[in-house]
Amino acid sequence: MRKRLLCVLLAAALAASAGCSRYAAAKEFSLFAMDTLVDVTLYAGERGAVDREQAIMSGAVSSMEKALSVTHEDSDVFRINREAGRSGAAVSGETIEVLSSALELCELTGGALDITAYPAVKAWGFTTEEHRVPSPAELEALAAQIDYAAVELEGDTVTLPAGIEIDLGAVAKGYAGDWLARDARGNGITSALLNLGQSTIVAVGSKPDGSPWRIGVVDPARPENYFAVVELEDCAMGTSGGYQRYFEQDGEIYWHILDPDTAAPARSGLASVTVVSPSALTCDGLSTALFVMGLEEGAAFWRDHPELDFEAVFVTEEGEIFRTAGLEGRFSLAEGYTDREVTVLE
Ligand code: AMP
Ligand code: MG
Repeated sequence: MRKRLLCVLLAAALAASAGCSRYAAAKEFSLFAMDTLVDVTLYAGERGAVDREQAIMSGAVSSMEKALSVTHEDSDVFRINREAGRSGAAVSGETIEVLSSALELCELTGGALDITAYPAVKAWGFTTEEHRVPSPAELEALAAQIDYAAVELEGDTVTLPAGIEIDLGAVAKGYAGDWLARDARGNGITSALLNLGQSTIVAVGSKPDGSPWRIGVVDPARPENYFAVVELEDCAMGTSGGYQRYFEQDGEIYWHILDPDTAAPARSGLASVTVVSPSALTCDGLSTALFVMGLEEGAAFWRDHPELDFEAVFVTEEGEIFRTAGLEGRFSLAEGYTDREVTVLE
């Protein structure tokens, strides 16, 4: 026992005398908020930073839950929805920040992303897992009530017309990923991976050996497999796909990504969309939006919006793979998929 203690002390003394500022060992922890499991792996950083980060991130994630959760009864989003048709709800600066970024993406995507799809999401039972297929008349009425342009922001107050409710589920993981990564970088973490709900990943720095992270892209037809690998360095990646949440009724599959025009699951011919961008919020919001748009419209959107600084990988329901040209050198097919054809979008 005493011998082991001596070794530890000696090792500590050696590290101190060498001015060692690196953690050799990784630290892993999980946080849970907004129905999402956040897995954090810290690989390297300034001394002390690795230990401090867990408490900081844990506090930040609970405060995001209090602001953004659509089910948490005291949350800003819950209060905004409860006040629909009345004088509006005063909310935190953080909520205004996420809401403004989300509304900007709603507008840029021409409403393919629409944070007011929530009543339709509820009608399909995706919030309670008590799934049902609404009638065509009900869907028509729900679609008529989806309109992000009806959300009014004025100072710290958000006002919704009666019948309209918001949900930031399509962008919250990205917002959280950006926040946590920025905090980690600012506090001296040089190498980390943040995995939010298995669909949004943020890479802080590179691997401790300086090489880029290699992140698998899920095969929507066989979600236990990765069909491709994308290399990331200080960059995020987000995937939206029908396979992530769905139910089956009378032989038909209904998934959780809805087309705001019909209030029904978006059938654009795509099975998944992966977006790569320095901004996790862009990855999260655009992967949902491009899934709704489909391949052709999604590719045109990519060409028309270089300012959004993103690349994308599309997989169709037939299993065809398309990727944008900017992923050159960062995208490769995974083992078992190397015979698949990949069409490059220019
Ligand atoms: P994601 O997993 O990021 O693709 O977001 C999908 C979630 O956002 C769903 O579970 C719904 O809660 C919500 N949602 C579904 N369709 C849309 C849409 N077209 N725009 C915005 N949010 C949506
Ligand atoms: Mg999303």
